[in-house]
Amino acid sequence: MKDDSGLGSEGGKRHHLVPLAALISRELRNEKIEKPCIKYGYAAQAKKGEDFYLIKTDCQRIPGSSNSTYSVFAIFDGHNGNAAAIYTREHLLEHVVSAIPRGLGREEWLQALPRALVAGFVKADKEFQSKGETSGTTVTFVIIDGWTVTVASVGDSRCILDSQGGVISLLTVDHRLEENAEERERVTASGGEVGRLSIVGGAEVGPLRCWPGGLCLSRSIGDMDVGEFIVPIPYVKQVKLSNAGGRLIIASDGIWDALSSDMAAKSCRGLPAELAARQVVKEALRSRGLKDDTTCVVVDIIPPDYSVPVAPPPKKQNKLRSFIFRKRSRDSVNKLTKKLSAVGIVEELFEEGSAMLAERLGNDTSGQTPSGLFTCAVCQVDLAPSEGISVHAGSFFSISSKPWQGPFLCADCRNKKDAMEGKRPSGVKVA
Ligand SMILES: [Zn+2]
Repeated sequence: MKDDSGLGSEGGKRHHLVPLAALISRELRNEKIEKPCIKYGYAAQAKKGEDFYLIKTDCQRIPGSSNSTYSVFAIFDGHNGNAAAIYTREHLLEHVVSAIPRGLGREEWLQALPRALVAGFVKADKEFQSKGETSGTTVTFVIIDGWTVTVASVGDSRCILDSQGGVISLLTVDHRLEENAEERERVTASGGEVGRLSIVGGAEVGPLRCWPGGLCLSRSIGDMDVGEFIVPIPYVKQVKLSNAGGRLIIASDGIWDALSSDMAAKSCRGLPAELAARQVVKEALRSRGLKDDTTCVVVDIIPPDYSVPVAPPPKKQNKLRSFIFRKRSRDSVNKLTKKLSAVGIVEELFEEGSAMLAERLGNDTSGQTPSGLFTCAVCQVDLAPSEGISVHAGSFFSISSKPWQGPFLCADCRNKKDAMEGKRPSGVKVA
């Protein structure tokens, strides 16, 4: 038996076996050492009362097992009322969790997460819209399991990472029509119009908006009164921090309209999380005044028994920037990871931002339950074999090459998918 832990081979005498109980207790100790400590703080100043947040540090992958604990931090910046933000805060997590297959180990669970986040966001959007309310919300949803951070976002509430070593990076993209040319193209191609508000006399004012509706965002949850090309499909990024840890700053646009990522991160370095969140809000208000709801959550992911927050940056930090993210390469991952984490480098595990549902759900045949039924990949309802429509099937007017291949959607979710891709005028249902 290969043994690289040093157990049972001290002095080369392999017959000194370590008792099982000792092995187990060492396993547990190692697990404790490996798990970071999470400290967090929250601060906000309300203007319209449409920002909401979620902090939940006692979630469990395996219900009842305290070893499987993970944390969720999220911000929801509502518009046209607060109903969408409140609904999403209450239900998004359960929708995401229900899309993760049962009985997965930790690594498989983390790998299943990006896809489950897509399904959960779409389900939340669909369910909220079915209530007939017109409001919408941004979502920046952060799941922390050990040193792995997974962020899913729609809209413009950013999450930044200030990693050990002082390198600041963005873990979200802004789904704003003004700045995001790719999203402008997508919205236009799906039948939306992008333009500024016209005032009397024909002058155009303000940021680029999408019409009908006049929303500045290209992705959100809710917003049933704007076109369905305003999609709820999140940009997802998953990174693994080195065991030196790092700090996340999650905030609504009230912060980011006033402060750059660098300014926000640097304004609170050296402060514990709670004071840091207050400091970032204070800094934003100082430079711009209270123009909008301004909400900030700071999360420190730090080695256990390590009470000092993210250290001040070393000099020449910018030269490190291009090295910070390294793609995981399958064959050399272990060697590489060990070397990189030794110098505090963040490993990028996953990144995908496509607005196409079929691309995001991928090829998957696990939608079949043991009873032989299929499950809708978005809303998880059981489907009879004749009911499921492959996510890869063409529109009703074209034939796909792989209409039998999973994942499958129920007719309702299929309808939603077509509307999001501009293949059907929004709100028009096919009986
Ligand atoms: Zn469905």
